Amino acid sequence: MSSDETDWSAQLRPETLAIRSGIHRTQEQEHSEAIFPTSSFVFGSAEEAAERFAGRAPGNIYARFTNPTVRTFEERLAALEGAEACVATASGMAACMTAFMGLLKAGDHIVASRSIFGTTLQLLSTILSRFGVETTYVPLADLDAWKAAIRPETRLLFLETPSNPLTEIGDLKALADLAHAHDAWLVVDNCFCTPALQQPLKFGADLVLHSATKYLDGQGRTLGGAVCGSNALLNNGPRNFVRTAGPSLSPFNAWVQLKGLETLALRMEKHCQNAQQIAEWLAARPEVERVYFPGLNSHPQQALAAQQQSRPGAILSFDLKGGQDAAWRFVNGLRLLSLTANLGDTKTTITHPASTTHSRVSPEVRAAAGLGDGLLRISVGLEHVDDLQDDLHRGFAAATITT
Ligand SMILES: *Cc1c(COP(=O)(O)O)cnc(C)c1O
Repeated sequence: MSSDETDWSAQLRPETLAIRSGIHRTQEQEHSEAIFPTSSFVFGSAEEAAERFAGRAPGNIYARFTNPTVRTFEERLAALEGAEACVATASGMAACMTAFMGLLKAGDHIVASRSIFGTTLQLLSTILSRFGVETTYVPLADLDAWKAAIRPETRLLFLETPSNPLTEIGDLKALADLAHAHDAWLVVDNCFCTPALQQPLKFGADLVLHSATKYLDGQGRTLGGAVCGSNALLNNGPRNFVRTAGPSLSPFNAWVQLKGLETLALRMEKHCQNAQQIAEWLAARPEVERVYFPGLNSHPQQALAAQQQSRPGAILSFDLKGGQDAAWRFVNGLRLLSLTANLGDTKTTITHPASTTHSRVSPEVRAAAGLGDGLLRISVGLEHVDDLQDDLHRGFAAATITT
């Protein structure tokens, strides 16, 4: 590419990058991106094979570390996150594992938000702990608690923002500064916002993780994940971890997800619009104690959310009066919303965290974290919002709460 062309493409906006970046057209001149379902690649000669294996010549060797379809997904997601590079993984959990195992060693310490995805919590507390990496958990929004938890051997700060299910906001800039003052990395799981709403690297984060299973695919079809950051940091462990340990993304899943990225901005805009409307409607219902959603004036960190995110997101929770009995009657009265743990789908989903995603957490810890028995979480999809409200009406009718 001439420098002229480089300048030209550097000015493209995110919606365009989502559609046009990372394309490597073959000699067939296909318009839509090709899928390369191949595990290995052919060398022209023994000399070429030796050069590629030695890393002296570019080119594919084996799909555990490079595949053209996976590369398109990686380049496209990196462009959207404003990252130099990206390493795709088989799932969101594989992305978490790649970041932790790629960067850390026995004796290192992590400070993590206590409000993280349940399986990530399990990965840290039951698996990484067996390899000598210890984690201290802190309340996401309590900056003093983060500071107090840092030790000389702390190498990594980890969070999700907004949190699941209570939509608390972590201060990305403050936590990046804190991490860097202690020679540690800030790693952010950006699954809930996606780069369409929030780019953590801009606020100083070192790595951004994704479960591509959620909004990036966007239609609940495939598992996938990604680690985005600078080449220097990705080459300092994570890239080699995927190549060597093998949690690699399949070309087919990469293709579904790179096509998903093309409509990400459009989908997120509509997801967020629907969620805002549902959140305001729920907040006015007498059966509802409280709604957790960064787009409401009642959200204590609305200003911080607005600084970091272009929109409030599309996941909300609410406390239903009447505890678990009412919450279960509510859920059982629904006809349209899917009762499932997935989120970030075109289909609206609902969960009762206390008896599902957070049931392994003791009732005392749940209560301390503000996870009540009447709490319900909704991932608002792309159905007509009136149909969603009609269904929630059915839920309220079935819950039979006397207010
Ligand atoms: C779903 C999820 C993950 C795990 O992703 P998988 O693709 O299911 O492995 C990690 N973090 C967050 C915030 C998630 O919602």
